[in-house]
Amino acid sequence: MPAKAYALIPAAGSGTRVGAALPKQYLEVAGRPLLHYSVGTLARHPRIEQVFVVLTQGDERFARCDWREFGGRVEPLYCGGTTRAASVFNGLLAARDTMDGADWVLVHDAARPCLGRDELDRLFGELEDDETGGLLAVPVADTLKRANRETRVAATEPRDGLWLAQTPQMFRYRLLIEALRAADPAVATDEARAVEGLGLKPRLVLGDTRNIKVTFPEDLLLAELILANQKLAAKTLRKASTSRQDAKTPSKEKSNRNALKRKR
Ligand code: C5P
Repeated sequence: MPAKAYALIPAAGSGTRVGAALPKQYLEVAGRPLLHYSVGTLARHPRIEQVFVVLTQGDERFARCDWREFGGRVEPLYCGGTTRAASVFNGLLAARDTMDGADWVLVHDAARPCLGRDELDRLFGELEDDETGGLLAVPVADTLKRANRETRVAATEPRDGLWLAQTPQMFRYRLLIEALRAADPAVATDEARAVEGLGLKPRLVLGDTRNIKVTFPEDLLLAELILANQKLAAKTLRKASTSRQDAKTPSKEKSNRNALKRKR
């Protein structure tokens, strides 16, 4: 039997770079906070038992959102720290009665609302039997320039072998706790960095450039477009599967169903 898997979303940041009065996890896209979308994709995945959300102590906004559609699978933990690494570490400690050392933990940014189901499936597909674990990432596509103090090009850097780290990052509970305990929070800006600090080599799993991190105000519009597109694609897929099923259904059954519909 595979190990259980849990998601943990650090959502205790103040999100100052986005320039809004609200912390960015609560900024709205199409009537819902970013956090709602990040939680949703994880909570709907059949491998994930529960989604823990790490919040600042005294957060009042989480309880005002409607989480009922996810049943009891979303649990707030009011133990955020001063850095992302501290929030994740505190969250892991707070969830220790639920999680086992060998269980998988998928740590995901609240500010990445456009995570797709395919990427999650890929993470599980490629890491389920991995000794270390890993993370979603995409190869760098642009040419890289190093700037000098006058913001002029000091050098063009080779981009071979460079990837941009995304989330979720998926590691075993025991390893993650050990790595974060040993890490310098100023250096460990993601979980993979903390695990690398133990001399291990997390696996890079191909992500998707649409899994953007909302950091600047203009990212909100992009997130809205991507989410609208995902919704449309899901609807088209559902429609196509209904018509495929319809084509397979014997005509007698179909006419009974149509008669029932007319009665209603
Ligand atoms: O600020 P940044 O975009 O790097 O934050 C990444 C994630 O870490 C966000 O979901 C944010 O809410 C979370 N975070 C946290 N505790 C902090 C700082 C950031 O949970 N002290």
